[in-house]
Amino acid sequence: MSIESEEPPFDTEEYDLLVVGAGPIGSMTARFAARNGLDKVLVIEKRQEIGTPVRCAEGVSISWFDELDIEESEDFIKSKVLGAKLYSPAGNTVTIGKEIAGDEVGAVLERDIFDKRVAMMAAEEDVDFMLKTQARDVMIEDGKVVGVKASRMGESFEIYADLVIGADGFESQIGRWAGIYDTIKPKNIMSCFQYRLTDIDYDPDYTHFYLGSDAPGGYVWIFPKGEREANVGLGIQLSQLDGSKTAKDYLDEFIDKHQGLKNGETVDMVAGGVSVAPPPESVCMDGLMLVGDAARVVDPITGGGIANGMKQAKIAGEEAAEAVKKGKVDKKALSRYEERWRDRLEEKLWRNFMAKEKAVELEDEEFDMIIDALSDADLSELSTESLLKKIGEKHPEMVESFEEML
Ligand SMILES: Cc1cc2nc3c(=O)[nH]c(=O)nc-3n(C[C@H](O)[C@H](O)[C@H](O)COP(=O)(O)OP(=O)(O)OC[C@H]3O[C@@H](n4cnc5c(N)ncnc54)[C@H](O)[C@@H]3O)c2cc1C
Repeated sequence: MSIESEEPPFDTEEYDLLVVGAGPIGSMTARFAARNGLDKVLVIEKRQEIGTPVRCAEGVSISWFDELDIEESEDFIKSKVLGAKLYSPAGNTVTIGKEIAGDEVGAVLERDIFDKRVAMMAAEEDVDFMLKTQARDVMIEDGKVVGVKASRMGESFEIYADLVIGADGFESQIGRWAGIYDTIKPKNIMSCFQYRLTDIDYDPDYTHFYLGSDAPGGYVWIFPKGEREANVGLGIQLSQLDGSKTAKDYLDEFIDKHQGLKNGETVDMVAGGVSVAPPPESVCMDGLMLVGDAARVVDPITGGGIANGMKQAKIAGEEAAEAVKKGKVDKKALSRYEERWRDRLEEKLWRNFMAKEKAVELEDEEFDMIIDALSDADLSELSTESLLKKIGEKHPEMVESFEEML
């Protein structure tokens, strides 16, 4: 019930549910598990403060807030935008309204405040949090995960729980220790670098996406944080970084080319990786579920993981509660979780993964043609099919290689 208990219940206490990681997805999962009837839910977090340092461009749609029972607040929504502008290397532009632009367009968060707020929502449902507490290994007995070995300020101890949920983010070790999956291939990792720039000149009513060789295999983003302030960053496919240039070098070159940005002042820097891998075959084993970035539900095209992770978190919390209440937490019993989140998210994840695989091969001229073809189209819908149809009307040769996706 408290965000930081005075006396950590180290030795004997056994939990209904242990969540590893107090990112937004871990806290939201814990909140829905508690709301659905679990009394003893603990979230452990290795950092000393929830939400910082921020490693995110903070762009989200907020269309899913109601479903997740999140009340909009100016405390954590820094800006709202009208839509997204996409730019090709030659400067062709298309503008897409936020209704159809997808899960990363609509608002720009203050992630540090947002993550804390989600933790508070969980605490309101009597979830306990323990900070500066790092999971070091999973404990497995007879093939079932029964808890984790953890450490806190030099002290090592074990935490037992009926069910463990790994919500430990992109670098999830819980998934690896449990043998659920392997490391991600370099071609499926975006290496990201971002500055928060202030005193810049740009259009703060839109999020901006620059495609092509400015960010090989990824894109450059400008996400508004105010009239003259924005998150300016990029993601580059790790396998395309040959050692001669870093992601930061690419970003510095991009900023240097843009008059409105080059005189800005840096107030923050972020480096991090994003998985753009397809979803794993399974995110469960006996006594264990994975959720959020740890379950690799990041959109492979945009690299956005908050919206998908949040939708998955609600399902995870509900199904975790059911499984623990019934006393059945084996992989078969957890298959309802797998089915429900896959029904909701998997088809789009696979489609966007395939689209990403094609997009990383495109040359600058092809991006020019695509954006040119879309620039005068009435984009009332943003499906793969509708986009390919519009591109095909102007450049039929371009859509041939995408046809198998249809
Ligand atoms: C540069 C960058 C830009 C991004 N931009 C966007 C964007 O604009 N929009 C969007 O939707 N997504 C974006 N993402 C992705 C987004 O940040 C993630 O999808 C989101 O944070 C996932 O939340 P999570 O709770 O699953 O994981 P995280 O937010 O990573 O939280 C995991 C938590 O687990 C903790 N933890 C890890 N290991 C342990 C351990 N062993 N013991 C205890 N605690 C542990 C970590 O400290 C962390 O607090 C971006 C990512 C990066 C790197």
